[in-house]
Amino acid sequence: MYYCFSGDEKKSRTCKRPGKASDSARSFLNDIMIIIITRTVKRLTQILYDKIIDALDLYQLECPCCGHSGCTVHAYYERIVKSPTGSFKLLVLRVKCSACGKTHAILPDSIVPYSSVSMEDTVEIILADTPEMVNSIFWDNPSLNLSDIRRIQRNFKIFWKERLESFRLEVLPGLSEHCIQLFRRQFMQIRCTLCGSFICDHTG
Ligand SMILES: [Zn+2]
Repeated sequence: MYYCFSGDEKKSRTCKRPGKASDSARSFLNDIMIIIITRTVKRLTQILYDKIIDALDLYQLECPCCGHSGCTVHAYYERIVKSPTGSFKLLVLRVKCSACGKTHAILPDSIVPYSSVSMEDTVEIILADTPEMVNSIFWDNPSLNLSDIRRIQRNFKIFWKERLESFRLEVLPGLSEHCIQLFRRQFMQIRCTLCGSFICDHTG
């Protein structure tokens, strides 16, 4: 079961070529992400990401499309992460299911898909309800700017606040697992791409 976010519904309504799959519809089929639940990693670096990948047994990794266990390295792509020591390009692994051939990006739960702001900072921004708390966020991570704060607070109100309240979920650690189970999306993910999860407690 999954729910379509209002932004995605709008995107599909504005698709000008009826009968042909929109980008978001194609992503349902071809681009399910695998979120690695580490429960420990907060500030992600390339070294930590590589450790998470090294700790994974790709032969045991279950494909979220067909359920087959067994993936191989397919490719890498870059994404920007805003860290306290500056923005950097994280090299993200994409794996391929050896049964159905679908490819899946591997993302740890410490980042939000399609966002350059970490999950830790995203949660702090959502919980910041005074100017002092916002200043404290800038102090801890100078890479963030005011538009990051406004965008995340706005997206939370539009896409996630009621959703969490309807399931009596609070913005607490462990929310990623609940959101992937209930909505098939990482918490605060806005785009329609579906997510599966894989728990990994051996990231050192
Ligand atoms: Zn598969």
